[in-house]
Amino acid sequence: MQKLKYERPYIKKLNAGIMNKFGTRTDSQAFTHIDGVPVKSLIAEYGSPVFVLSEKQIRRNYRSAYRAFSTRYPKVQFAWSYKTNYLNAVCKIFHQEGSWAEVVSGFEYRKAIGNGVPGNKIIFNGPNKPKEDLLLAIENDSLIHIDHFEELTLLLKISENLTAKPRVAIRVNMDTGIYPSWDRFGFNYENGEAWNALTRIVNSGKLQLVGLHCHIGTYVLSTAAYAIAATKMADLAWSCKTQLKQTIEYLDLGGGFPSTNTLKGSYLPGADTVPSVDDFAEVITTTLLNSGLPKHDLPLLILETGRALIDDAGYLLGSVVANKRLGDGKRAMVVNFGVNILFTSFWYEHQISPAQDFTPHVENMTVYGPLCMNIDVVRESVNLPLLNPGDHVVVHKVGAYNMTQWMQFITQRPAIVLIDEQQQTHLIRTSETLNYVEEPETTPPHLIK
Ligand SMILES: *Cc1c(COP(=O)(O)O)cnc(C)c1O
Repeated sequence: MQKLKYERPYIKKLNAGIMNKFGTRTDSQAFTHIDGVPVKSLIAEYGSPVFVLSEKQIRRNYRSAYRAFSTRYPKVQFAWSYKTNYLNAVCKIFHQEGSWAEVVSGFEYRKAIGNGVPGNKIIFNGPNKPKEDLLLAIENDSLIHIDHFEELTLLLKISENLTAKPRVAIRVNMDTGIYPSWDRFGFNYENGEAWNALTRIVNSGKLQLVGLHCHIGTYVLSTAAYAIAATKMADLAWSCKTQLKQTIEYLDLGGGFPSTNTLKGSYLPGADTVPSVDDFAEVITTTLLNSGLPKHDLPLLILETGRALIDDAGYLLGSVVANKRLGDGKRAMVVNFGVNILFTSFWYEHQISPAQDFTPHVENMTVYGPLCMNIDVVRESVNLPLLNPGDHVVVHKVGAYNMTQWMQFITQRPAIVLIDEQQQTHLIRTSETLNYVEEPETTPPHLIK
């Protein structure tokens, strides 16, 4: 065993942030293995920093979410939100489990096709669908969720010369009691634009209205908001049936369930406070079953859950670079990964665990990344033991949005490893090389010697 570092006694004023009656939590044990694979051997084989994903946890999350809805409602379909994590290996796990694809750009659309998703199982969302993307989606019989009147007009124009009717839904935004409400996407429910759009679609005779879609926010903590959303969606579906003589085949309630990460400034850890997927399923399905929609002919319920299905399956392993005392006496630690690859550290207080035995002496500190930028703060205030340069740390619950929103900045982005259910490791994305970064560049001739 490694010799523990002697820590010289040091007297300083306590600066540990807001106290609460539960005290502050720190790990009492080193976090040494992920799904039975030693953290040390992952770093030895794939480098540091490195992202690690657990296939077992992804499948477990998917199955328990699917069970939560399908045991309460007769027809349920999940569609994997590509932008949450569109590594092909990740998408394929969800597709193997039965997920459709939910995409928000032509790039993601083509990725889904490349992953072998049948065109009619791709949901095409988003405010910007250029004509060539719409043509591709129509050709593949995909589900096009219209965001605004310009898109509707364009679709009507395209469909004039078609024999088959493109299958469409509209995205609806609405007041669900959470503010600010996401009314920038889709057609508003309260002001009648949604109804106006639905009327135009049905009356055109050129488009096949198959569904209604909403996505009311992300990391939503209120189950009641989904009750309001489900009620308004069911109302619209009923109005379509009674007034436009159009049966709505599916209601897509979008994503937005929180992961168990802790939001910045929260009084209690996320794991203790966020509602579970079961809680959301209970509210949504109860609302739909009691909405007055005919029981024998209920619409398919689609969910586009992203972060709640993958956040806790992702880890970032890294190394300690240095320790220092700041001007005010506070301790700081520098690590070898920054906010450019850990975007979610802007809104989450990610748990950081030492990956080897450590001294019992814990101190409040700031954790900085290596970016040479003042905003590169991984944790503003966290209680950690003194770690030695070269020691390893594990950042938890980083599976959602980091591997899609990450930025290449002064370093190359790290490798991503998947641990399969048999505890075998697979490199699913190599670390970037200098060549990879420079490949799209060209140097004008006068600058080449
Ligand atoms: C991002 C997004 C999702 C996934 O949201 P989560 O909050 O991660 O569950 C689902 N649907 C749409 C339309 C989105 O833009």
